[in-house]
Amino acid sequence: MEDKGKYYLTTAIAYTSGKPHIGNNYEIVLADSIARFRRKEGYDVFFQTGTDEHGQKIELKAQEAGVTPREFVDNVAGIIQGMCDMLNISYDKFIRTTDDCHEKQVQKIFKRMYAQGDIYKGAYEGMYCTPCESFWTESQLVDGKCPDCGREVKPAREEAYFFRMSKYADRLIRHINEHPEFIQPVSRKNEMMNNFLLPGLQDLCVSRTSFKWGIPVDFDPGHVVYVWLDALTNYITGIGYDAEGGSTEQYKKFWPADLHLIGKDIIRFHTIYWPIFLMALDEPLPKQIFGHPWLLMNSGKMSKSRGNVIYADDLVDFFGVDAVRYYVLHEMPFENDGNATWELIAERVNSDLANTLGNLVNRTISMSNKYFGGVVA
Ligand SMILES: [Zn+2]
Repeated sequence: MEDKGKYYLTTAIAYTSGKPHIGNNYEIVLADSIARFRRKEGYDVFFQTGTDEHGQKIELKAQEAGVTPREFVDNVAGIIQGMCDMLNISYDKFIRTTDDCHEKQVQKIFKRMYAQGDIYKGAYEGMYCTPCESFWTESQLVDGKCPDCGREVKPAREEAYFFRMSKYADRLIRHINEHPEFIQPVSRKNEMMNNFLLPGLQDLCVSRTSFKWGIPVDFDPGHVVYVWLDALTNYITGIGYDAEGGSTEQYKKFWPADLHLIGKDIIRFHTIYWPIFLMALDEPLPKQIFGHPWLLMNSGKMSKSRGNVIYADDLVDFFGVDAVRYYVLHEMPFENDGNATWELIAERVNSDLANTLGNLVNRTISMSNKYFGGVVA
């Protein structure tokens, strides 16, 4: 087989606030299919997935459950990795943001950005959304609520570190314009340019003092690193990046990533903040970020509070793993949201897998038995 070179792809890392549903598992099945396809084509593939384990939301969930945050995330990360294995996901690395080597690198990265002046200390006043861990200005709110999740926000002030986003904005705009394949599908590129980049990027608050469950800023106790600065760097720490110049051979071989596969709801973090963090570290940018649509349940977003959640393990018990993988891949176009119900999955399994493919295989075998003695010449 022809050697096509390396291919590094990643999924978003799953947030360990609870057991993921089939709408969350869609992405890993899609990524797995791409990884398998690239391997067959002759690429040297590295496929990374994992879990995003810090933040106030997890601290609160652990408190409610009466366990430590560490116990809480150990349990959920175990469930998530178990689901990947159940779905036959051929990942090469499962990274956890509580892994020691990841935490050490995030501290080094933060310190380096501070030392070179990309991060500075200031204070933040604004409207704060707890679930999103994001500050907003009054003008960014939508009907007085968080523009990302639509929940209530409250006024808050805290001393914090900020990242000078504006310093790199022009370079990022140029990169996006010169690399039309960088953000896909193209509709998401327009959204990022028009809503965030062209109006002017605000500096990003990259530390928190309102909770403890995060990676501490080692030179300023009481501050923990903003969960997105922590989480996004998994794509480089997982393959051996070192902020002090000691990156591994594996890192030198596989970075930059060929594909970051993510949900459309987190495209802003991946196409604006992440590339700018990489520019600050003087590392090349990933080749492509693909923001996929959602898999909906009865055409509504799946959520526990709505009670319309379907879990992959229930589906696999009933239909088998390949039927479930087939369904999510078949149902999901790349631009629009897909739909999942028990009835639709049963219908798809019966019509495509049993009637069409099953029938084809059955007839082919019968005829090869009848006319060729069961031997394919
Ligand atoms: Zn929010």
